[in-house]
Amino acid sequence: MKKIKSVKDVVAWRLCVGCGACVSICPEKKVKLIDVIDEGLRPYQINNNCDNCQECLKVCPGYQNILPNSSSIKNFNDNLEKTWGPLLEIWEGYASDPEIRYQGSSGGVVTALSLYCLERENVAGIIHTGAKAENSWENKTYISQNRIDLLKHNGSRYAPASPCDRLSDIETMSGAYVFIGKPCDISGAFRSQEIRPLLKKKIVLMVGIFCAGTPATRGTLDLLKKYQLNPAEISEIRYRGNGWPGEMTITNKKQGIDSIVRISYRESWGNLQKYRPFRCYLCPDSTSEFADIACGDPWYREIDVNAQGYSLILVRTERGQKILHKAVKAGYLKLLPTKGDVLKKSQQNLLVKRQEIWGRLTVLRLFGIPIPYYQGFHLFYIWWKTDLKTKFRTIFGTLKRIILRKYYRPLPDTNLIDKNIMI
Ligand SMILES: Cc1cc2nc3c(=O)[nH]c(=O)nc-3n(C[C@H](O)[C@H](O)[C@H](O)COP(=O)(O)OP(=O)(O)OC[C@H]3O[C@@H](n4cnc5c(N)ncnc54)[C@H](O)[C@@H]3O)c2cc1C
Repeated sequence: MKKIKSVKDVVAWRLCVGCGACVSICPEKKVKLIDVIDEGLRPYQINNNCDNCQECLKVCPGYQNILPNSSSIKNFNDNLEKTWGPLLEIWEGYASDPEIRYQGSSGGVVTALSLYCLERENVAGIIHTGAKAENSWENKTYISQNRIDLLKHNGSRYAPASPCDRLSDIETMSGAYVFIGKPCDISGAFRSQEIRPLLKKKIVLMVGIFCAGTPATRGTLDLLKKYQLNPAEISEIRYRGNGWPGEMTITNKKQGIDSIVRISYRESWGNLQKYRPFRCYLCPDSTSEFADIACGDPWYREIDVNAQGYSLILVRTERGQKILHKAVKAGYLKLLPTKGDVLKKSQQNLLVKRQEIWGRLTVLRLFGIPIPYYQGFHLFYIWWKTDLKTKFRTIFGTLKRIILRKYYRPLPDTNLIDKNIMI
């Protein structure tokens, strides 16, 4: 099998997730991210003299994902933990603040927890993702320090985001921080903490969101095209929220007058999800297993576009457990008891994906194609428990894709593919 020797190889073999951990960890600050519009954010090494340094590879979730041993407290059966990762508690819940709940993607729990940490836990800032002010189809990492800024950058952004790219900033800033991200971002931040003790001290909570994969920028641009909208005239894009699941709303500023185009969640995600890169299909961690707390949608509930949202909340660590219950006690969140089977009922697609990963990775490995290293995910166990049809599908489907999409060949050096880049 070809070996991954650098982050450049990670990109070439389509394994990069675009989390930005390499940007923060580079001791010489020479890694920048560029938006390869059909793929996602990818590192661009300004000069390539990195022979004696592999810091970026050490923190790269495209290269390796090693789950730590989970807590010895076992509140759920072994099978549930093998399928969904470390679990101390499972809740449904929502933000007590009606505005945070309404604007949030699900129940606004991520934002409500963040606000609690800012106001009651002496946290200096929340590292998270929001739209770029100048191009709202692109994202940027913000460090929010108050309710107004948190609410400016809430809601899911179904476009590339790299929250780890500001981890190095907090090393030089005072105080403690909360980190919010997708599962791959949390994995990158987790590894960065392992090798940078100062980060470990500074990040007091990691809140992950569930993720079925991040659509490339081309997804949003093609959706704008479909609705005959000119990107230059767009002043705001919200992918969902303002109700549950809410609608995608695009604010179009034409000759000084704002008009809003609304697209149903089903239609927008239905289009955007087709633009998820290859790497997302190799990811078993759809529910942020490295996080202290992970949030997603309890999709099993009856949903109405204007409904008040609910979040599904997985408590994964004792640190997360402590903060969640303090936030409830302080009145920031409301929790409703629920059972482990809501996960399967709510996230069927994520479950099926996880069941298929071992088969996909094995076929790629047989072709000598580099794959990410996963430890602690029980991938063979989960694959083995699936039916024969799924086993065949994962193997022959992957085989077909390798041949048709030429996955046996690395991509050309990203430093060279400028035709595909938006700067
Ligand atoms: C690409 C993507 C795919 C998803 N797939 C699923 C899924 O399959 N199943 C499911 O149940 N839920 C999925 N979610 C998560 C879901 O949409 C909600 O984000 C989650 O339930 C939290 O809701 P909330 O109301 O508590 O969060 P909010 O209070 O609205 O806060 C959301 C937080 O997420 C951060 N954020 C938004 N977009 C990104 C991004 N692209 N990268 C990193 N951080 C971001 C924001 O900065 C904000 O802090 C996905 C989200 C994304 C971005």
